[in-house]
Amino acid sequence: MSDAPGAGRWVPDTSHLDDLRAAAPDCRGCELWQPATQVVFSRGPSDASMVLVGEQPGDREDLEGEPFVGPAGRLLSDALREAGIDENAVYLTNAVKHFRFEERGKRRLHKSPTITHLRACAPWLEAELGIVQPRVVVALGASAARSLLGRSVSVTKERGRLLGGGYLVTTHPSSVVRLRGREGFRDAFDELVSDLRLGAS
Ligand code: SF4
Repeated sequence: MSDAPGAGRWVPDTSHLDDLRAAAPDCRGCELWQPATQVVFSRGPSDASMVLVGEQPGDREDLEGEPFVGPAGRLLSDALREAGIDENAVYLTNAVKHFRFEERGKRRLHKSPTITHLRACAPWLEAELGIVQPRVVVALGASAARSLLGRSVSVTKERGRLLGGGYLVTTHPSSVVRLRGREGFRDAFDELVSDLRLGAS
């Protein structure tokens, strides 16, 4: 995997998100495009003051071609609502634009992207941030934080405070989804809401 060419040559030099969206399906910057159904790009306005960056599309997103439409996306919508943030005013994207998974029978199990995948896909994220120019970029989870900050990040240690450059790290909503019905769910959800509220402030 270390020889992934990276997305650079597929990312157009443009100031329009629509140009990026149109070009992304052709990307062959790493091998993840092949088993995936389609590229999953982003959602939200180009003048958003807040950008939320997740890890990668999940099973549902891969099938629908839209980011944050699965269980984690629904939880994120609930958290944004509770934080008083208009979801339609936020730009939502992922550090990696194709779904990485492992087939187990008929199921496709999520597999986290490697550092090589994060690096390969970074030119898309850089281009998006260059166009949107948000005031705050919220990394949802360690993979997004690694891609944005260029170093490994302990979400537990660094979450919930503004870092230099307008970055803020919080948990990925899928980690909160996994706690549903178990002790700790409400606390984890409340922490996510509180981090989002801080980002919006
Ligand atoms: S994951 Fe990113 S770099 Fe890899 S093929 Fe998809 S868009 Fe290109």
